[in-house]
Amino acid sequence: MIRLAILGATGSVGQSTLEVVARNADKYQVFAVSGYQRLTELLNICKKFQPKLAAVPANAAVSFQQQLQAAGCKTEVVAGEEGLETLASTPEVDVVVAAIVGAAGLVPTLAAVKAGKRILLANKEALVMSGALFMDAVEKYQATLLPIDSEHNAIFQCLPANFAKRSFAEQGIEKLLLTASGGPFRGWSKEALKDVTPAQAVAHPNWSMGRKISVDSATLMNKGLELIEACWLFNVQPQQIEVVVHPQSIIHSMVSYRDGSVLAQLGNPDMRTPIAHALAWPKRIDAGVSPLNLMTAAALTFEQPNNLAFPCLALARQAFQAGGTAPAILNAANEVAVAAFLEQRIRFTDIPKVINRVLDLSRIQAANDLELLLSEDRRANQVAQKIIQKLH
Ligand code: NAD
Ligand code: MG
Repeated sequence: MIRLAILGATGSVGQSTLEVVARNADKYQVFAVSGYQRLTELLNICKKFQPKLAAVPANAAVSFQQQLQAAGCKTEVVAGEEGLETLASTPEVDVVVAAIVGAAGLVPTLAAVKAGKRILLANKEALVMSGALFMDAVEKYQATLLPIDSEHNAIFQCLPANFAKRSFAEQGIEKLLLTASGGPFRGWSKEALKDVTPAQAVAHPNWSMGRKISVDSATLMNKGLELIEACWLFNVQPQQIEVVVHPQSIIHSMVSYRDGSVLAQLGNPDMRTPIAHALAWPKRIDAGVSPLNLMTAAALTFEQPNNLAFPCLALARQAFQAGGTAPAILNAANEVAVAAFLEQRIRFTDIPKVINRVLDLSRIQAANDLELLLSEDRRANQVAQKIIQKLH
């Protein structure tokens, strides 16, 4: 029996993971779960899966423990950030699913790395913030890092086995083709984007996801974060990655080889596929996803991203190239700007402006220290808040 800790069990990726586990209950056991806001949902998860541990925010711990007892669950509550670290590093856990959204996922995901776990990484912000430090720790603590972000999972599947042991040149790999749906505003002009609402931005054409990543998909910042994620995961430079807009989201990404071969991974857009792949790797299990029907699938089309209307992709590329603390600052500014847009405090088109301004006002430093990264995250957060207050 393989035991799982699901960080962010109440979220979109968390729920998809629970569905895959429920279908494969003979192989996987939910040992620990965490939730942050939707604690009624977490209680339902505890009733259904009877985990040993549940992590909740410190101020909710006592009442949540009482609710568990009243429901007849023996689940033990652990509290706050420490609770999340306990979940990620407890010896009984074999696999940690890192599915918390945003910078809040960094410390617990790193705790899983330091405990040498098999990590199913959804929380791209953690890797974007701390790239070099994170990958060094994976190596040092012999953790197994498997991407469940659909594009990176696709690239992983299209690369040769043990690709990390040899250079891309030796393996004849020319470039990675990172696909993007283009989001709900694909084809819109910069002018038209000024008045879009949060409801329009979170209505993704193909994927059902949490609110933050849905807005990131609409601004193309999601692709920017994914570009940085791919650079770290696969040890490549941004020039070796081409972003291709593919509105149908049937191809989840590709690898182009020197001999002209392009390998692609296809499937219906459903996170249960990459989750099941990484859970069972190198085996395969049932994900509950209906098979891809090529006859009914729409024609597959491709186009270039519109960098003028969607400046976030270029901002992310620049931050990666600036290196050090720049990606963490970009990430923090983006989180604050997206939250402000969702609260209708700024316009959609203000999001890249806020990020650009925060980066302009920041001194980029070498990022070899977790404390520095966390303090830069907090500082950039405050700077972004101030810029937003002045905007309107
Ligand atoms: P979501 O908003 O649906 O869920 C987020 C989870 O994080 C929830 O369980 C919530 O309780 C928890 N959380 C939020 N703030 C927290 C905090 N401060 N401390 C502790 N826990 C906190 O998000 P999601 O769509 O499931 O995405 C999760 C992560 O996976 C993100 O990093 C996202 O970029 C990535 N991802 C998501 C998808 C997708 O299809 N949803 C695909 C690829 C990657
Ligand atoms: Mg993705």
